[in-house]
Amino acid sequence: MKNYLQLARHEGNSTLFDVVEMTIISSRWGVPLHLHAEGLRGTGKTTIMRAARDIFPRITRIKGCLYNCDPQKPHCPAHRDLSPEEIALLETEEIPMPFLEISHSAKIGTIVGSIDLARITDRTNPTAAILPGIIPQAHRGIIFVDEINRLADTSPELTDVLLDVMGTKPGRVQIEETGLPVVEIPVQVSVWAASNPDEEPGPLQEIRRQLADRFDLVIDMKRTDDPDAIASILKQASHVRSHEKGNPLDIQARNIRARRELEGIAKKHAGLDLPDFLRNYIARMYIKYDIESFRAIEAIQHAALLNCALRQRDTVLVSDVIKVLPLALRHRVDMETLTRIMNSSPGHSSSPAGTVSRQPVREDETLAVTPDPEPLDAGEKHPADSRSFVDRMLNSLGLKKEQDEISSAANSQTESPAATEASGKNTDLKRISEINLNELIRTDKNLNP
Ligand SMILES: [Zn+2]
Repeated sequence: MKNYLQLARHEGNSTLFDVVEMTIISSRWGVPLHLHAEGLRGTGKTTIMRAARDIFPRITRIKGCLYNCDPQKPHCPAHRDLSPEEIALLETEEIPMPFLEISHSAKIGTIVGSIDLARITDRTNPTAAILPGIIPQAHRGIIFVDEINRLADTSPELTDVLLDVMGTKPGRVQIEETGLPVVEIPVQVSVWAASNPDEEPGPLQEIRRQLADRFDLVIDMKRTDDPDAIASILKQASHVRSHEKGNPLDIQARNIRARRELEGIAKKHAGLDLPDFLRNYIARMYIKYDIESFRAIEAIQHAALLNCALRQRDTVLVSDVIKVLPLALRHRVDMETLTRIMNSSPGHSSSPAGTVSRQPVREDETLAVTPDPEPLDAGEKHPADSRSFVDRMLNSLGLKKEQDEISSAANSQTESPAATEASGKNTDLKRISEINLNELIRTDKNLNP
């Protein structure tokens, strides 16, 4: 299996790479981020998510604790009542951030937990105890569910468990065994899911709307249809392969560097917050468009912070919000509403940068001029800031040129994620906005002169 850092990025899949890395940062902040990648077979969604393990940071747990108790915040039945002094006497260990998959055929006991047969049949000291299932064992890590739409259709019991796990942050899981008291355990787990909405039984939001809404972000995966981008990817793949032939330890070294870089980003940007004007914008949008799900706007706020952190900026910009808007809304509002919201977003017209887009508007709509994109894309204007750590690593390996070619081939798309998302649904992004956001843009200019 290809290493995460070897996987080719293009405009059809780059958002998933970003969101995967955002989840890792979020996980270091102690906040789960649930993501759902939708797309046809062959778009690489499961490959990218499974390969992400290569760059997962390590977590420190109380030695041998299957619930991955954080020594600072023990939560499992065996450790939660111990005093800090008692915890300090216990040994700790470092393990990779967990990544566990839920198979559709798994029994509920395997998923949540069951009675520990080894301990109850222990001849010297039989004890009735719970063996934690996959979900509690994934605490502080990731649960992966492939074909989530099919699971929602055929396994209502597992779906209910996921609803509990994803219902709050942290979520919770209940372990019930006859003859034992019910054990309820908090779980801080990000759920990653994949599905093909074009295959039976159809899109998740049509199967189980409630579960669909639990996903903070939905990523629409696409193949690239730009031959130049494909050629660059091929060239890069060939270059990476020949490079690694001579350096067998290289992959591992790069993984460790990527992991450390993500840990560093998470630490450095842990205190990020949204400026008030952006929070107000999100609040106004929530009311104006009568968005049903409060989770949606919480997701927008949190994901905007993560997008900003990933780009190693200290100030959250309008562009951070714009980038995540369609990801948080596409599964929660109808396409027409999403289009209207995106049209209200500055700087993301599909027209060439710097041009002004004036189109007929309804009378009740405020005329907003497509702004000069500079303040919006301030991060993108400084490649050193905006590059993902993977780009920087390719750079250090002398692969920069190829990567740049890919970037520039995909440029018009990747710098307009909103346009990419919405244009996929044949929506018209050139319509003029309803909310006049010039005020926001001016504020961004002030923040980033
Ligand atoms: Zn524990």
